[in-house]
Amino acid sequence: MPELPEVEGVVQALKPKMEGRTIRQVQLSDVVRSSFAAGKQCIVKQAEPDVFETALTQMTITKIQRRAKYIFFHLLKDDVTYVLVSHLGMTGAWFVVNAPEEINEAKFQKHIHATFQLADGGYLIYSDIRRFGELRFLTTIEEHSPLTKIAPEPFEDGAYAYFLAKSLLPKYAKKAVKEVIMDGQVISGCGNIYATEALFAQKIHPARKIQELEDGQKQALFEEIVVILRQSIEAGGSTISDYRNINGEAGNMQNRLQMYGKKLCPTCGVTTGQMTIGGRTSVFCPQCQR
Ligand SMILES: [Zn+2]
Repeated sequence: MPELPEVEGVVQALKPKMEGRTIRQVQLSDVVRSSFAAGKQCIVKQAEPDVFETALTQMTITKIQRRAKYIFFHLLKDDVTYVLVSHLGMTGAWFVVNAPEEINEAKFQKHIHATFQLADGGYLIYSDIRRFGELRFLTTIEEHSPLTKIAPEPFEDGAYAYFLAKSLLPKYAKKAVKEVIMDGQVISGCGNIYATEALFAQKIHPARKIQELEDGQKQALFEEIVVILRQSIEAGGSTISDYRNINGEAGNMQNRLQMYGKKLCPTCGVTTGQMTIGGRTSVFCPQCQR
């Protein structure tokens, strides 16, 4: 699943290729249309497929921005601003190509769900194998309230103070530390991979209640998350299953992971433990993490 570093990689690659370009027309796949019509899990949210296609016609992409694990395409048409919000879900991928046939990996080619033909030639394409991703067309971010509740970017001043204050709320205090740090309203963009790594680096058991941690431990953990996220951005993200950047390249952070997906602890050699926390599989060292 793409996490903050992978989404950052996608945004950095999209920006120079897409900012300032205008969409001529949009075409959604038949799968998107039929799943929307049947009321099933559908990539396109809020707007009906026909409305989505028509609305985006002749829009200019003025700016592309990452916010937590979302991509915001800021749009302009007739002096009115809009935003297309993209979440990559498990397997979403964006491509900028001269023709759709240029996407040379069959699994991505087969699962193209949104094709944006550009006014100056070329295509912006969204492919999603498992279809857990989202495309949400909005007038303003406020129109979809969960987007207004996301914690500050972890690299911003004040993000630690925000995390500390949230961790003290009754709603979070008795929860497992791993569940809390993975909550996007507490820390933005820290998913399973980086939460697992940061807890291992700080020798904290993922099931510890966050209220049992001292402030110094919370601060060290937060700083560890920031360091790991930065390292991963520099490494081009982690490619665990189907993540690709827009040039179809995989990242290499997965080669540096110490605990995520490991059978043995790299520090002490014991067999790693596994438990479900907050609905997600959590790997940890039962000896090193307390
Ligand atoms: Zn160990």
